[in-house]
Amino acid sequence: MARSYAEAVRNGTAAASRLQRRIDLQNRLEAEPGAVDVFAVIAELDVPLMLRPLKGLLGAFLNTPAPGILVTTERPLSIQRFTAAHELGHCLMSHQPSLDDEDQILRRAPTQSDARMGYQETEADAFAVALMMPRWLILAHCARQSWRIDDLKQPTVIYQLSIRLGASYEATARTLERYSLIDASTRTALLQVRPRALKAALLEDFVPPSYRGDVWLLTEKDQGGRIEGSRNDLFVLKLTELGSAGYLWDFDTLAESGFSIMRDTRLAQASDGVGDPNVRRVLAAPDEDARGLVHLEQRRPWLVDAPLSVLTLPFDLTGPEESGLSRAERRQLLAAA
Ligand SMILES: [Zn+2]
Repeated sequence: MARSYAEAVRNGTAAASRLQRRIDLQNRLEAEPGAVDVFAVIAELDVPLMLRPLKGLLGAFLNTPAPGILVTTERPLSIQRFTAAHELGHCLMSHQPSLDDEDQILRRAPTQSDARMGYQETEADAFAVALMMPRWLILAHCARQSWRIDDLKQPTVIYQLSIRLGASYEATARTLERYSLIDASTRTALLQVRPRALKAALLEDFVPPSYRGDVWLLTEKDQGGRIEGSRNDLFVLKLTELGSAGYLWDFDTLAESGFSIMRDTRLAQASDGVGDPNVRRVLAAPDEDARGLVHLEQRRPWLVDAPLSVLTLPFDLTGPEESGLSRAERRQLLAAA
């Protein structure tokens, strides 16, 4: 039990770091960058977890007769993940049972009632932040995408970082401030921008049925990374193409992997020089329950030589979590059967 807010943040962060070391999370994620699969971690730890439509709650931690976690089905995957991580924090730190609404889960400041409870909500919140958004994972994504500290002021960068972390835009901005990667005024400016506006800008002339899904901007820099999203998500691929030398990206394999191509355009380069590469922009939407591997090649169609470049991405777009067991636990049971 913590005696101060600062001690609670330290405790929660330390508990998450211990867990990451125990399950070797850093090596696993640096080999294939993506989001921390909180539900898979919970399944790996054999902590009972159920998803339910919960009235007025995001989640709960119960400890009678045995410890277990409840998470709502009524929110996007990013909130489900953060809630599950928060409840796992309660569980691993042997907290009192907790029924968590938005005030508890997305807590941003110390409160009287939390102080009376030994700051257990602050501990669980710090645990969730450190588990899902450890500094090393943020820096790994930044290095991969060539984002520098100064780029973290751009809403478009924060949004793309947030979906790669599997966290919400707001939680990502607040976490960057916690790590002193941005300052308070930058955080305020970032939070004035709505993710919906960022999605609409990426989609250009395409209007989706709703803006609930995320819009991923994928480039060659995402090669070898992992995409974990939801069935409403959309993908804008922007790939450099050396058309003047006869090389073309082959997007037929995208359709074979379970995506529909909504737009396919070639953007002229600013320099307009003959022989310069152009940029191919493709907008793709996943078919129902898409999960597998995208493998794209840029090659000369009439030659059987090696591709000039490739983009390989394992993806799982079966989120958000639905009622019952988590997808990770279902797969674990199927594998054991
Ligand atoms: Zn809680």
